[in-house]
Amino acid sequence: MGYDTILFSWVIKLKKFTMIDENFICEKCGKKVKRLGYTARDHCPYCLYSKHVDVFPGDRKNTCYGLLKPVGIEKFKNNYKIIYRCEKCKELHKNIMAIDDDMKLIIELSKNTIY
Ligand SMILES: [Zn+2]
Ligand SMILES: [Zn+2]
Repeated sequence: MGYDTILFSWVIKLKKFTMIDENFICEKCGKKVKRLGYTARDHCPYCLYSKHVDVFPGDRKNTCYGLLKPVGIEKFKNNYKIIYRCEKCKELHKNIMAIDDDMKLIIELSKNTIY
């Protein structure tokens, strides 16, 4: 394995670990959201809205900044993913559900999952 290959695999590894977990104020409902602690907080646990800021989960590299509207739920391993549509660029996006998400909203969403 050449030096370039080693360097390249390091860049990949570093990319995977850029996770920014921070407090924020939800732009949809205005509530203060505390950082999650175990992974990057990527959506509001009260209204489930998110913001189009990631290219890869947690990297905050996207410059769209549109509001991501939750439109459905998808099963993912032992967890669920929330399916979003960006209100600005209409792109679909998925975030893994967080432990303190509002379960009532999750159930409501899973009932009317539309793609
Ligand atoms: Zn909110
Ligand atoms: Zn967008």
